[in-house]
Amino acid sequence: MKYQRIKGTADILPSETGKWLYLEEIIRNVMARFNYKEIRVPVFETTELFARGIGEGTDIVNKEMYTFTDMGGRSITLRPEATASVVRCFIEESLGKKAPLTKVYYIGPMFRQEKPQKGRQRQFYQFGAEALGSADPRIDAENIAVSVQVLRDCGINQFEVALNSVATPPLRAKHRERLLEFVRPIASQLPEVDREKIDRNPLRLFDSKLELTQQLLQGAPLLEQFYDDDVRRDFDIVKETLTRLGIPYAVDPRLVRGLDYYTRTAFEIRSSLLGAQDALSGGGRYDLLVEELGGDPTPAVGFAAGMERTLLAMEAVGQSDYGEKSLDVFVIAESEPERKQALLLTKQLRDGGKTVDLDYLGRSQKAQMKEAARQNARFVLFVFTDDIPGEMFQFKNLSTGEQQKLSIDEILRPIA
Ligand code: AMP
Repeated sequence: MKYQRIKGTADILPSETGKWLYLEEIIRNVMARFNYKEIRVPVFETTELFARGIGEGTDIVNKEMYTFTDMGGRSITLRPEATASVVRCFIEESLGKKAPLTKVYYIGPMFRQEKPQKGRQRQFYQFGAEALGSADPRIDAENIAVSVQVLRDCGINQFEVALNSVATPPLRAKHRERLLEFVRPIASQLPEVDREKIDRNPLRLFDSKLELTQQLLQGAPLLEQFYDDDVRRDFDIVKETLTRLGIPYAVDPRLVRGLDYYTRTAFEIRSSLLGAQDALSGGGRYDLLVEELGGDPTPAVGFAAGMERTLLAMEAVGQSDYGEKSLDVFVIAESEPERKQALLLTKQLRDGGKTVDLDYLGRSQKAQMKEAARQNARFVLFVFTDDIPGEMFQFKNLSTGEQQKLSIDEILRPIA
């Protein structure tokens, strides 16, 4: 074959878009209930936005970005995530001046040059929600609740909410010092991929998937030992609110997010329904990002969730009814005058809101019946030459076999 899709990308086939639409509808419905409004930002931005917004030193920025030089000589990057773009837009459009609190959501493709595997692609889809303007830890809980509600509405109940507070930069700096004292003496025993984290960001060692690293970290000082009263109080409020909202969670003191701009609340939702890539969503508070990108200091919180993984989890729980609507009517006609009439009837039915199709392949009546059945049509409408003058046609219910002679007006009524 001459052309193939690029490794790590996927075609979403016509037979699969139904489940995507179903998921998107759930997302939009949940977002509306929580009063988050959709925002659509470009899929590419200046490279610097992501480098600054996601953080130099992160895997995303160091190794995974699709970056190219455009014809104007500018360095452009396909977005690896959407938060930086949302914040850029928030600042550029002064959204903070138009409303005291900005609650937005997005749905769209993201691009990361990671090693493809089940649940991990190079172009993948995320939905996410961001709330900019409030430092109230209760909105952190609301943001988590949004993520949870989407899963529940998808019929997914097997998941765990892992929760932590990553405190603030000064507290992390204190912790970092102590952590380095702990880690430096064992540096040579650490696997090489993790060893390089020591200088870049030792906190990320806790993020390691490697057993050996986790073993060596036993007894390492944890960030929570460095919380101040303020951080602890906010964290308590998040936990209390989650409990009040009926959302079970488990505190995971080793949970760190891969991104530098996170402060205080960090969370991840994982599911045993998935394989090695078990994270469905992740997010948290990023009080420093807006300022970092040139805006006024603005507290903010948000999450991003993987749509392919959400769909995998839905399949794993046996969800297969995506509410797809099959064809209402298949119009069957054979001779030329019948086909002409069929076009007109099809138009009238479509104008009346029905989903309708007809034959364009010159097939026999029998083959058209088969096609109607293959398409799961609820009704077929037979156009016979003799019926054309009287404008009454045979209309057959394919599930009951019942057949009646009806006018178009009558047809438009019973299946309304
Ligand atoms: P992140 O922006 O890395 O926190 O990712 C948020 C969510 O997006 C993850 O929990 C996954 O569900 C999903 N995700 C991240 N990277 C990928 C990828 N390469 N392929 C598919 N889904 C991904």
